[in-house]
Amino acid sequence: MKVTLKKICGDLELTIEAEGKDEKEIWPQLEFWTALPTAHPSGATDFQIKTRPAVTNAGKTVHYYEIACPSTGQRFCLGQSTEGGLFPKGWQDLPGGQGDQKKDGQTKSATAPATSRAGNVSAFTAKPLTEDEMKFRAERLVAEGRVTFDAASKTYTVQVNDKISYQVKPGPVCDCERFKTADQPKFRCEHIRAVALMANQSTQPGQRDQLQLLIADLKTAGIGDSEIEQAIARVCDGVCAVADLTIEQLPKALRSLQAKYTDLAVKQKAAA
Ligand SMILES: [Zn+2]
Repeated sequence: MKVTLKKICGDLELTIEAEGKDEKEIWPQLEFWTALPTAHPSGATDFQIKTRPAVTNAGKTVHYYEIACPSTGQRFCLGQSTEGGLFPKGWQDLPGGQGDQKKDGQTKSATAPATSRAGNVSAFTAKPLTEDEMKFRAERLVAEGRVTFDAASKTYTVQVNDKISYQVKPGPVCDCERFKTADQPKFRCEHIRAVALMANQSTQPGQRDQLQLLIADLKTAGIGDSEIEQAIARVCDGVCAVADLTIEQLPKALRSLQAKYTDLAVKQKAAA
């Protein structure tokens, strides 16, 4: 079977023909083209297809493939995978511009401006990473203090670089390309790992233990399991198992049980 895809790319109109025995063979052939931008995030469409030779730090001559958008001073960069194909990376300033960065032509981590994320383009190269690489990146993100938490929206923000940040929400889900395109369930990208790592690190040691002690005290005082569970679940979004409480929930659970304990002490005093 044969498929013809018409793609608007700025003011260029591309016609892509793909052929394969079935849709599964054709799909990957079209993936790249549909990921190209239809316009610059500013709305500009003066697109030019460019190839630019450059010399890497190692002295090797490579070619950069890009779509220049002169009116904005930016270009849409394409990375080259190790298998030789191209993949969309996102917008950067044209050489000589502010955001110009020397790259070695290999598929390093994406540094596309955040603006392109609002557009119709995947700005991140979802290059597969090994477990170790993701663990390493997560550790570095935490060590560099790039993970912040907003209690109101229960969202962690992982500021990957000056321009790109990802949001990790309970689930956990991340809005990065690697997470979105992961095919395994419960996939954990480096951002989710960083959040988990930070959550573990910042748990005040003892808070969980303190809670367990308090539960034991309440039980000793004759309070039933279900009553204790309810007291925790009420303030912790329905979670009642101590081990499952997040660092944000732990202090709430503690306060709730402490209040219960105080009540009890008051009552006992009154009864005495
Ligand atoms: Zn992620």
